Amino acid sequence: MERIRAGHRTDPNYGEKESATLARDYYGILGVSSDASDAEIKKAYRRLARKYHPDVNPSDEAAEKFREASLAQEVLTDPQKRRIVDAGGDPEEQGPGGGGGPGGFGGGGFGDIFDAFFGGGAGGAGGGPRVSRVRPGNDALLRLQLTLDDCFAGVTKDVTVDTAVLCEVCDGSGSESKSDPVTCPTCHGQGQVMEIQQSILGRVQVARACPRCQGVGEIIEDPCQECAGDGRVRARRDIEVKIPAGIRDGMRIRMSGEGEVGPGGGPAGDLYVEVQVKEHPYFLRDADDLHVTVNVPMVDAALGTSVDVPLLDDSVATVAVEPGTQPEAIVRVKGRGMPHLRREGYGSLIAHVDVTVPSDLDKKQRELLEQFRGTSKHVAGVQSSEDEHSGGLFSRLRQKFGR
Ligand SMILES: [Zn+2]
Ligand SMILES: [Zn+2]
Repeated sequence: MERIRAGHRTDPNYGEKESATLARDYYGILGVSSDASDAEIKKAYRRLARKYHPDVNPSDEAAEKFREASLAQEVLTDPQKRRIVDAGGDPEEQGPGGGGGPGGFGGGGFGDIFDAFFGGGAGGAGGGPRVSRVRPGNDALLRLQLTLDDCFAGVTKDVTVDTAVLCEVCDGSGSESKSDPVTCPTCHGQGQVMEIQQSILGRVQVARACPRCQGVGEIIEDPCQECAGDGRVRARRDIEVKIPAGIRDGMRIRMSGEGEVGPGGGPAGDLYVEVQVKEHPYFLRDADDLHVTVNVPMVDAALGTSVDVPLLDDSVATVAVEPGTQPEAIVRVKGRGMPHLRREGYGSLIAHVDVTVPSDLDKKQRELLEQFRGTSKHVAGVQSSEDEHSGGLFSRLRQKFGR
């Protein structure tokens, strides 16, 4: 059975089909456009919450609007649920016929009229679309900046998380006296009420979500003042995050049950901590290898030398520069890179040699180099593919241009 699309502003039939469907228009509830950012959604929700929060406005109508807004905010800030909404569905609605089944009321004749009139989009109207009062909470995402040193050694960080936590006043029950919810007297637990509507085909019976219980089928008689019956409140709390050695930029650590507590005090989602690694002044990381550029003066490249590279654990790796080392030569020092994540061993330190040519020769140095030139058999000239030292600039150029 094809579902009626939730009314989008972009839908040309918006408003016409709206009244016929139980799929909620979450964007419309908050009064935001379908491309609204998370921040805009949260802002719109806060504006409505200030207006309709039960503490401010005790009417039943306000309570319904407050619940609708809370739900809309929750759905639209959850990427997974938002995708369902954008595809025309309702992530909070159980499938059609989930309760009493398609024949729950009305019988065949009614169903036919309904289908003919609403384009087969009876949706949950034929079944019992009872919404669960207690639902699992959302996952939360937190970004954490680390230095490469943190990633090398592993580190424990205290982070502050702003999420929904269980209301301590009512222990998540939503009730001031911690009493169990009672069957909704308006819908007798069905979660929906029937209405007779006039249409061009005459009088038709239409099901809609019970306005008293919002489709839950039960109500809390004495809502907790702290959480307005939601069983949860927003709070900041500090959590310790253990970062294992070897972690890389963009990796996520899952902290089970540290996400948002669900509506009605439902089980908490997970917290994901996404690692963002700051740039290091001289190391570039590639998997578990650390690349570093070392400056080697021309004469040292010719005669050979060694270069000390201070590492992230404050030890020093010695990079051996062999006599006759060419510009852009690579020296690999095994086992001196980053630690492997959750297994033994380390990557390599990979030193790229940048041969530096002096441009500030004094008189004495100039004389010495002139003497050296007099004895050298090498002369400046065109480099060809036949030339002895492969790995020279000519072969590198050829590689670069794919020849
Ligand atoms: Zn409470
Ligand atoms: Zn009800």
